[in-house]
Formats: sequence, C-alpha cells, structure tokens
Amino acid sequence: MAGTGEAGKAGRRECGVCWNVYDPALGDPQWQVPPGTAFEDLPSHWSCPNCAAEQSKFLALSDD
Ligand SMILES: [Zn+2]
Repeated sequence: MAGTGEAGKAGRRECGVCWNVYDPALGDPQWQVPPGTAFEDLPSHWSCPNCAAEQSKFLALSDD
C-alpha cells in the first residue's frame, strides 16, 4: 500500500494492556478525535477507549 503523506507522523500505537490500536488515520470516534490526529496531539485526558489505560501504556507499532 502506498503512503499517503503520513510518513512524517509517528504512526499507530498499541495499548500495552488490551492491545487496542490507536490509528492516527482513523482518529478515535469514542473520544471525538478527528481522523488525522497524531498520537502526540491527542488531548491530555485521552485514555484507551477499550480499557482506560493511560497514554504512557501505549507502545509504538511498526507497519513493516
Ligand atoms: Zn487498552
């Protein structure tokens, strides 16, 4: 799959507690985070929508 201009972003993060993935391309509907929001740009009160783990529990995911 070809890149679409997201190369400079940090990419997806995976919750270290429940393995829920935050994808910047999708945002987070549960938190009303719009698509295209980098993990670093999430509101400070954001936590895992699945298990409520704090942002520090999230680990970087590499695509390839
Ligand atoms: Zn989680």
